[in-house]
Amino acid sequence: TAHTRPARALATVDLGAIRRNVALLSSRAAASGAETMAIVKADGYGHGAEQAARAALRGGATWLGACSMAEALALREAGIDVPLFSWLDAWDADFAPALEAGVDVSVSSASELARVAGASARTGRRARVHLKIDTGLSRNGCPAELWPTLVKSAAAESGVDVVAVWSHLAAADEPGDPSIDRQARRFSDAYELAREAGLNPLRHLANSAATLTRPDLHFDLVRPGIAIYGLNPVPGSAELTPAMTFSSHVVLTKRIAAGEAVSYGLTWTADRDTTLALVPVGYADGVPRTLSGRMDVWLGGRRRPVVGRVCMDQIVVDCGDDEPPVGAEVVLFGTGSEGGPTAREWADTIGTIDYEIVTGMYRPRLQRTYT
Ligand code: PLP
Repeated sequence: TAHTRPARALATVDLGAIRRNVALLSSRAAASGAETMAIVKADGYGHGAEQAARAALRGGATWLGACSMAEALALREAGIDVPLFSWLDAWDADFAPALEAGVDVSVSSASELARVAGASARTGRRARVHLKIDTGLSRNGCPAELWPTLVKSAAAESGVDVVAVWSHLAAADEPGDPSIDRQARRFSDAYELAREAGLNPLRHLANSAATLTRPDLHFDLVRPGIAIYGLNPVPGSAELTPAMTFSSHVVLTKRIAAGEAVSYGLTWTADRDTTLALVPVGYADGVPRTLSGRMDVWLGGRRRPVVGRVCMDQIVVDCGDDEPPVGAEVVLFGTGSEGGPTAREWADTIGTIDYEIVTGMYRPRLQRTYT
């Protein structure tokens, strides 16, 4: 609507970057005979699920993965007709709409299998099921001791087609960690048991990090998420382009005298006369308050420090003797190609991962645009 434009703050998503990142990942997968399931959960890691999904399909992905059935169904309703997989939902979520929409679902337990089979009986639709084995992450997935029973029950269930056996890695972003091979061995054992039960499932295990560093673990399908958005969990393993740029602009500049302090708590004091630029973006827009005093922005072709505390709706940039024009673009994070800040830099500074930074950019106050 007119009163929200131009935006105070913008998340600009480069769909060409997503397409190119997926092209790189899917060509590596194809080299080991695997297809690519692009993971677009959590609104495409904050980039917009439908837009990210379409860009990923243009880049060579042939499957899409989302966490919840609602996320997968939204893609189906948007007209996306490729295989869709969803794996984690409310304990009592109804599988029927997923079956009716041809969305594959995950099963980790006998009770989930019973609920899926019940939905199949009610709808008259066969359920496409991926059986999840817990190989050591100790999160979702069937424990090894219950696996032989689960695969036999699934094989005997008339309304259920077992499409795949799958698992998830705990430390693939630390190449060489012994847990990776341990999980891979348990995964192979689980697959063998599925074969002995008469099943002939696909296998999928690799997240972004394993897609980039462990071609021997690609199996039939790889499931990269973060890397398709250009954030590399194993820096140096591929040239990826971050797809999201977070920007705002200067709304006001002013001179202050040496000795004047800035923002709540007056935590920063100018040691010289200087020019401040006010930027209308704050922690309610996704700038972590814990970055106060520890972040730069890209403004006028160089890095400049944000001084004083990050507020709910605004930050203050120290521009020294420069005076940027009102309206000048301020990049909070982006590709970093010119030397500006990145989501990774924010994450490293505050002790988190860039996943949390970009997924946190899905918020109503931010305007998202696509290039
Ligand atoms: N597969 C599953 C089951 C996941 O939960 C995720 C994300 O956490 C992924 C794949 C993608 O992981 P990554 O973003 O590290 O590539």
